[in-house]
Amino acid sequence: MRTVVTGGAGFLGSYLCERLLDRGDEVVCLDNLLTGDPENLAHLMERPGFRMVDCDVTDFLHVSGPVDLVLHFASAASPADYLAYPVETLKVGSTGTLHTLGLAREKGARFVLASTSEVYGDPLEHPQREDYWGNVNPVGPRSVYDEAKRFGESLTTAYGHAHDMDTAIVRIFNTYGPRMRPHDGRAIPTFIRQALAGEPITVTGTGEQTRSICYVDDTVTGILALADSDFAGPVNIGNPAETTMTELAREIRDLAGSSSPITYVGRPVDDPHRRCPDTSLAAARLGWRPAVPATVGLRRTIRWFAEERELSKG
Ligand code: NAD
Repeated sequence: MRTVVTGGAGFLGSYLCERLLDRGDEVVCLDNLLTGDPENLAHLMERPGFRMVDCDVTDFLHVSGPVDLVLHFASAASPADYLAYPVETLKVGSTGTLHTLGLAREKGARFVLASTSEVYGDPLEHPQREDYWGNVNPVGPRSVYDEAKRFGESLTTAYGHAHDMDTAIVRIFNTYGPRMRPHDGRAIPTFIRQALAGEPITVTGTGEQTRSICYVDDTVTGILALADSDFAGPVNIGNPAETTMTELAREIRDLAGSSSPITYVGRPVDDPHRRCPDTSLAAARLGWRPAVPATVGLRRTIRWFAEERELSKG
């Protein structure tokens, strides 16, 4: 198998590259390092079968040789990133998806689009099933990400039908783990960074809003199960264990052995109130269920952040 991973220098993409190499695939990673980090790939650079190409997928896209699978993961993903790069985010979700679909079509490869739970917006149904159409504000600040992904889903579906292509869509829910950037603005790295520094942990709003967090190993297993199947989806991949943000902040503080106080700050515009995947489709069609409990995943993540913190001091 020869697989192209766009966004391979990012958080999820780097784990995908690693897992694919571990199972014997050749991997071509395409990334312009907008939000990615070469450090995420440092341990893979010398491995046979791995190639990193510095490339913006919104530009002309060419990969020589055969390709069996295209995993399109390029896109800013944290709210802080996509608010800093609004036009780039819309472009990678639209033009970038068009180009990577074109690559898959040219090569006769299966194509998997990394979509997101954000296509459900601030959902009015709980838990969210794949047949729920969502509640997105098309002109709100988050729309640059949500609508780019919704367009990407539509384009992927149209290419599948119009060109008889083998395409799939995965809707990924909040995923966490080592290699997240401490300042990427997402709740878990923020809480861990603050807990380890003994600073106040800043929960937004009342802290009663919920999220469902999935450890990265589980998410990557689910994505590869979809890639290896002939299922088109869309399919939710996430952990259905729902937690309030205050509970999450307390758990991280306790696991980090910190005595940081928890404080409350303003809530971002259009921030969803509840987020919880219905994963019965993934279980039925892919035989996939998350396996890593939050306590285990958070402990591993906190340990990694603590080690990185020590290294940066030294
Ligand atoms: P990330 O920011 O760590 O990685 C994204 C990567 O895409 C980065 O390496 C970045 O440099 C690259 N990129 C951005 N624009 C590009 C372009 N025009 N050309 C080439 N490369 C480009 O984000 P992540 O958390 O790893 O997310 C990866 C994908 O998964 C994204 O598509 C995201 O929407 C999706 N996703 C992630 C989560 C999550 O919880 N992490 C949840 C839902 C969906």
